[in-house]
Amino acid sequence: MDKSRPLMPGLFRETTDGPVLIGSRCEACGRTHFPLVATCLDCLRKDLKEVDLPRRGTLFSFTTVQVRSSNFGPGHTVGYVELADGVRVFAPLVASKEQPPEVGQHVRLEISPLWRVHDDTEVIGYRFVPELPGAKGEASHA
Ligand SMILES: [Zn+2]
Repeated sequence: MDKSRPLMPGLFRETTDGPVLIGSRCEACGRTHFPLVATCLDCLRKDLKEVDLPRRGTLFSFTTVQVRSSNFGPGHTVGYVELADGVRVFAPLVASKEQPPEVGQHVRLEISPLWRVHDDTEVIGYRFVPELPGAKGEASHA
């Protein structure tokens, strides 16, 4: 049986509508943070509520990293995704030469194994994949 564990507890959860990232919304000033924080980074209050973040967003910026890191090979793409509520999340991106990332493109959250550790345990994390044109739930431009 394959072993797996989340990258970190408290980053995401399954809902009946699919996986979501978990954020903290400040009840005092309204800012939403990801990942969870104990103190609002804007107003320094501690009146925070756990919220499910939107699963879809647009690519704000990205880069393709050409050096190997401990868990990713050369040529992996990472970037900031701006979710529908304005929160920016740094994450790996699914991209290819045939389908290069583009600032402003619609992306959606995916919970996926990201790498394996020495005892073959899969580390489960989040990443964003391009939203196919016409996909269900894609933001409208009306
Ligand atoms: Zn605040």
